[in-house]
Amino acid sequence: MEAAPLNTILHVWAGWLIDGTGGPARRDVLIHVEGGKIVSLRRMRLEDKLALEDRLVDCSESTILPGLIDSHVHLTMSGTGDESIRQKQLSYTADQAMPVIRSHLAQSLSRGVVAVRDGGDAASHTLSYATDPALHSIPFRVRAAGKAWRSRGRYGRLIGGPPAEGMSLAQSIASDPSPLDHVKIVNSGVNSLKEFGRETRPQFSAAELDAAVQAARRKGLKTMVHANGSVPVRDAVDAGATSIEHGFFMGNSNLERMADLQVFWVPTAITMKAYARELPKGGLEAEIAWRTLEHQVEQIAYARRLGAPVLVGTDSGSLGVHHGLAVAGEMEILVDAGYTVEEAVCCATSDPSRLLGLRGEMGQIKKGMEGTFVVVAGPPKTLLRRMGQPEKVFVQGRLVASGGLPILSG
Ligand SMILES: [Zn+2]
Repeated sequence: MEAAPLNTILHVWAGWLIDGTGGPARRDVLIHVEGGKIVSLRRMRLEDKLALEDRLVDCSESTILPGLIDSHVHLTMSGTGDESIRQKQLSYTADQAMPVIRSHLAQSLSRGVVAVRDGGDAASHTLSYATDPALHSIPFRVRAAGKAWRSRGRYGRLIGGPPAEGMSLAQSIASDPSPLDHVKIVNSGVNSLKEFGRETRPQFSAAELDAAVQAARRKGLKTMVHANGSVPVRDAVDAGATSIEHGFFMGNSNLERMADLQVFWVPTAITMKAYARELPKGGLEAEIAWRTLEHQVEQIAYARRLGAPVLVGTDSGSLGVHHGLAVAGEMEILVDAGYTVEEAVCCATSDPSRLLGLRGEMGQIKKGMEGTFVVVAGPPKTLLRRMGQPEKVFVQGRLVASGGLPILSG
């Protein structure tokens, strides 16, 4: 897939502009992009309209927001409910996995998602994709963990493996030659759908986790820690993890510490909504999924009041969670928890741009940033309902998707 040729000059009339900072939407803004970057941003005037005529991209009935960032995905896996496909994807060779990854990226792009942070796959295919520029005809930022680290005999077989026999977690991280973007550690079990709120014990001791985070830091790498329940999350926060993934039932004291230390939290609440919808209706598991979602919404509401940095991450590839599309679903959950639409956009743009090392490039619509943005029909109040099918997606001033479909050529 090739993007359209670079538009050297682009003038876009945004009916409403949500700039990614969390502040309220502004009316009638003229965005001027040159050489892939935003060179000016100002109130649209009648004389602009007359002077620009047919060179003006008229989005006066639409909302424009920065390109979206999903802070937790698994690009080698699809959200399909077809179990045979899910099983096959887990044992794919690199040659089989690449088209899957590329199709997930194209899907994501068509929904306005322009960057993702991957939470790992056992064969490290996503890292192979991310580090091979020859594969990058889709203009997309992928941050990859490679293979996640878990403890022997514990949860996480699908996304990673344990340290080698006789080696500690820290030694394994220190000696791993893979060109990772971040280290992923699994420090608890998966959230239970059999028993509401059941906590599993941590996979690693507090000392092991501490040494592991230090080992990653010495390599200049951030750590992404899967942790549910109070003790697994507490240990990860104490160790200095950059982000807590999932964090179901972590409890108020963890949220308070994360707010104090500004540890990122990626609640992946959409996974529970998807389970509740995909699992047999009226069954115990579906009921527990709904209750877990409600509990997570309460935790997210408390995190917002505390000022803890909550990021939109979907765990796309999980059952019923589809790449790209799920971002709007996770943002809707944030709004249910009390976020304004503009704040929810910030959790999917400006805040994750810091985590992914993209600050200053994307995540906000302002002068000097990339011309990377999404156009969605209608005002901000209908944004999340309509975000599944954006009118247009621009990356660095190039139109890369239109009408919810990627622009294909060749
Ligand atoms: Zn995950």
